[in-house]
Amino acid sequence: MSYESAIGLLLENVPPRKTEIVPLAEAYGRVIAADVNADQNIPAFEKSVMDGYAVRSIDTLKVPCSLKVIGEIPAGKVQNFVVGQQEAASIMTGGALPEGADAVVMVEKTKLLANSEVILHASVQTGENVAAQGSEVTKGEVVIRRGQLIGPAQIGVLATFGRTTVQVQVAPSVGILPTGSEVVGVEDVPAAGQIRNSNAPMLVAQARRLGLLSKQLPVVGDDPEATQLAIRAGLEQADILLLTGGVSMGKHDYVPQVLKDEGVDIIFHKVAVKPGKPLLFGRLGEKLVFGLPGNPVSSFVTFELFVRPAVRRWLGLERESLPEVSALAEAPFRNRSKRVFYAPGLAVSTENGVVVCPIQTGGSADLIAFSRANCLVVLPAECGSVPAGARMRALLLEDLVEKGEPR
Ligand code: AMP
Ligand code: MG
Repeated sequence: MSYESAIGLLLENVPPRKTEIVPLAEAYGRVIAADVNADQNIPAFEKSVMDGYAVRSIDTLKVPCSLKVIGEIPAGKVQNFVVGQQEAASIMTGGALPEGADAVVMVEKTKLLANSEVILHASVQTGENVAAQGSEVTKGEVVIRRGQLIGPAQIGVLATFGRTTVQVQVAPSVGILPTGSEVVGVEDVPAAGQIRNSNAPMLVAQARRLGLLSKQLPVVGDDPEATQLAIRAGLEQADILLLTGGVSMGKHDYVPQVLKDEGVDIIFHKVAVKPGKPLLFGRLGEKLVFGLPGNPVSSFVTFELFVRPAVRRWLGLERESLPEVSALAEAPFRNRSKRVFYAPGLAVSTENGVVVCPIQTGGSADLIAFSRANCLVVLPAECGSVPAGARMRALLLEDLVEKGEPR
């Protein structure tokens, strides 16, 4: 199955969304579930954007000129005096413009004399240095659209409009179930033939990057009964169950059969991508199951290519796939495989745009070399050698690197 068909099926099977209300302090990193409307005009009152003097602009046509200072308007205090002809009021940034005045002369363009007289060295026009009521937004306007990720600026906007609580999408719970009789704990010293469980902590971090908390389940050996019990327990605890290993064609790869026995509807098994060919995706009611290949690089890449879009769809985020940039190959890339190759690359931002170098790795087990990559370069099936200087599609896993930055 092609990547595109697999993604299509995957997204179709994501269950409908649910929402919940959280306090503003916990809304960062969540996805907003309903449009937010302004509960008032911003600014709510005619406001000075400078420290200076509130004046009648008509009095400033000829400068320098001298005006009488009749009072002071600090931020937060509304004064009820009226600025008359040849008069000015000292005003601070954020102060409410007094009646009579229609502009503000910035303090740098003035000189205050001892006898409450101010000399202006600049003319102003009506509205200068003044923010009109509702000039940023008018009451009722949409200020945040549903489906937006709540970042620090959105938190500020929510606070501006008095939202102490926010309606957000419910995030799925994630269970991570490693399989393999050779897999031992991170704290263990592997005996001959054993390897440490690097996949589970890595997947926890990948899920965390999507804003999800996950639960690591105990490693299950290659045994059909034990695998069945572990999968059953995993499906009870999590909305999205991520298995690693045991989904290939090996004699002891029991995961696909056990999932079928447990009633999981296998939506697809095997995708024409490299790495990650054995990937399995299934569904049980409103729960999703991914059988990720055990090789660490395959596990990482299939998470980013398949689990990420499913999670982002679940959360109602608009762009599901990894962010993509166009980059110039700095060295040749190759793909002789019949599958699309997602090649590890290092994308660097230079004065001439983004360039990308291939990362030489020992294949899908070589997580150490892979860990230097910050992108996946998309190489179509059987494209052969792509020369240096060619334009490549690079899917970003992390931020671009600056030229000369160590990696
Ligand atoms: P499998 O997909 O079960 O055939 O495993 C493929 C390769 O990935 C084997 O070399 C496994 O030892 C390795 N592997 C499986 N699970 C893990 C894991 N949790 N952490 C690191 N490597 C793993
Ligand atoms: Mg295995």
